Amino acid sequence: MSDRRRRRLRVRGVVQGVGFRPFVYTTATELALAGEVGNDEAGVLVEIEGAAAALDEFADRLRRPPPAATVDSVECTDMAVRDISGFRIVGSTPAGGGRTPVPPDIALCAACALELRDPGNRRYRHPFINCTDCGPRFTITASLPYDRERTSMADFGLCGSCVREYSDPADRRFHAQAICCPGCGPVLACSEPGTGDPLSRARALLRAGGILAVKGIGGYHLACDAADPAAVAELRRRKRRGDKPFAVMVPDLAAAEHIARVDASAAALLTGPARPIVLLPRRDSSGGARAAPDFVPADSVAPGSPDLGVLLPYTAVHLLLFGLPGDPPGPRVLVMTSGNRGGEPICYDDEDASTRLTGLADARLSHDRRILVPCDDSVLRVVDEVELPVRRSRGYAPVPMALPMPVPPTLAVGGDVKNTCAFADGRTAWLSQHIGDMDDLATLHAFDLAERHLERLTRVSPDRLVADAHPRYRSAGWARRHAGEREVRTVQHHHAHIAAVMGEHGLDAAERVLGFAFDGTGWGPDGAIWGGEVLAAGYPGYRRLAHLKYVPLPGGDVAVRRPYRMALSHLWAAGFGWPEHLAPVRACPPDERGVLEHQLRTGLGCVATSSMGRLFDAVASLADVRHVVDYEAQAAIELEGSARGASLGTVGYRFPVERGTDPAVIDPAPVIAAVAEDTARAVDAGVIGARFHAAVARLVVELALDYADIARTVILSGGVFQNALLLSTTRTLLRDQGFTVLCPQRLPPNDGGLALGQVLAAGAG
Ligand code: ZN
Ligand code: ZN
Ligand code: FE
Repeated sequence: MSDRRRRRLRVRGVVQGVGFRPFVYTTATELALAGEVGNDEAGVLVEIEGAAAALDEFADRLRRPPPAATVDSVECTDMAVRDISGFRIVGSTPAGGGRTPVPPDIALCAACALELRDPGNRRYRHPFINCTDCGPRFTITASLPYDRERTSMADFGLCGSCVREYSDPADRRFHAQAICCPGCGPVLACSEPGTGDPLSRARALLRAGGILAVKGIGGYHLACDAADPAAVAELRRRKRRGDKPFAVMVPDLAAAEHIARVDASAAALLTGPARPIVLLPRRDSSGGARAAPDFVPADSVAPGSPDLGVLLPYTAVHLLLFGLPGDPPGPRVLVMTSGNRGGEPICYDDEDASTRLTGLADARLSHDRRILVPCDDSVLRVVDEVELPVRRSRGYAPVPMALPMPVPPTLAVGGDVKNTCAFADGRTAWLSQHIGDMDDLATLHAFDLAERHLERLTRVSPDRLVADAHPRYRSAGWARRHAGEREVRTVQHHHAHIAAVMGEHGLDAAERVLGFAFDGTGWGPDGAIWGGEVLAAGYPGYRRLAHLKYVPLPGGDVAVRRPYRMALSHLWAAGFGWPEHLAPVRACPPDERGVLEHQLRTGLGCVATSSMGRLFDAVASLADVRHVVDYEAQAAIELEGSARGASLGTVGYRFPVERGTDPAVIDPAPVIAAVAEDTARAVDAGVIGARFHAAVARLVVELALDYADIARTVILSGGVFQNALLLSTTRTLLRDQGFTVLCPQRLPPNDGGLALGQVLAAGAG
């Protein structure tokens, strides 16, 4: 054949352990091409020959891989034709020049879910069913390359049938490293006494209102029937959890649509391979819910929250917990919350579980496959059909991110809240799973574990460490203790927030942006607590253009837990009194008011802050929405909830900007005054909330227009922009003015995204 050609294709991306070689095999066979495919350390290498048109088609199809794979690049090189026939999959060959990462944990695929339900299949009801397209990866792998012997599946020898499937290139479990079956795989056990198999005992316990610890992919969950208010109340009591919403798991997308509003983007996320928790606007119990009471979570699942965190089953164990046809009815909607007491890291180790979960759960549904590293569920929301991550963890870690410029081998340790760390080298960064708040020994231990695990999986030997500039951050302390001879660089908190978003959007090294970093807390070099920051920023540095006027933060953590204190502080800073008719004044006990007044007058125990998060708290308290919070950002979340759908009315609030100074100062006092006036006139809290959100959005646009000669690209980040209403309004107004607006899409706007910004800011400096 005259048009016969031979090509070598180098495929990079997440292409190992995700069914990529079988996909190549099938594609080549369909196109009648000859050659071979193999894994090496740089990715997947294909040598292939046949008709030129078929080769082009083949290269095209490689760019549309199986769901769990991501192809970053396909490089083609022409070779001399060898006139071979047949196509084969060859074993892994080591080669230099790159690192192929371990894939993330992948949710149960549709093909496996069908087999699970098929009484004729040999894996009918097998709780550990998986294939090349799905199953645990990251959490069961100790080191590279990703092969069974380096995973916790090495504890289980393969039976003859599994060996045959594993060795058959035409089988969908060809080289599936975690392959197993009821004859040779892990075994499920339930500590609940009774007759029947472990799953039916677990279902019965849940139906009876009990609390079950369930060993999943990245750790233990605590589960109970979400439709049973008594069970939910008992779970809150045992976990010592106040109002913080629980996520719920429902058996399928239809069930999710019964309890929440699911648009197409949210549906794709809910059913996708990462299978995160998706925050969805709930259908309220007053007529919105379209299902029988059994299917509807009790109000106490997410009290006061406008959204409901929903996730679908991502392992066979979860599906079986809901029951298959023929089973006695199981629960229809489950609370699924991480197995721990409030604030502790998720429990993942069986021995640890036997002590820590005793007293929390009535029984444990467990198995004998070890989890090597804990990994919480990821959390995302969708704003205007665009993803907004809140927590990037299971299903995403350790997917590498391409960097816009090369960096030396680096470990960035992130911040102290919602900590994640990142390894980077050259043009690639790997972000860890969510580790947690670095305020106790258990979390520091979890940090050690996650950091070492990621170091083994990336093989980066950092010669530089990067930390937040906060002198008392525990993460920064960790970096200094572990640096040895290596350099430790620091990056200012809000600069890191902006650099992270620049990085995920691939802005190049010379780019400059207007960065709006609005959050609760970040250390500023002047010793104040920053958080309402307008920066002219690039990777190497930033200039503070403007910030919210400093007000005293009285009593640090106490002020965060009691928004009424922030309201009183803002009223005081604005020169207003504390009239009794104002809600925060009434919420503050008279003794405390006296102490607070003294503190504010003398500055005792006060730190100056420009925090936008605290301004949201103050307004939430002034509007009588929330005076004391039980979890982070509760006041802002409830203010947003009340504002959604409320009309702005005719009165707008406006923030004046004092431009006589450098940086310019944004004065919140007139907004505080207007809110106080509105409450005095009994304006609805939702209307006040809507006016306040609109005012913040307008402020951003006004400032962006002022500084448009510096840059026309605007970045919105910081935890405050997890607020869907604020993000959506601000983004729309900015785009109307012709700005390019970049928002966090792959990383959270909160401190969970800092590590990437640290890598880039330090890399450029
Ligand atoms: Zn599968
Ligand atoms: Zn087997
Ligand atoms: Fe922050």
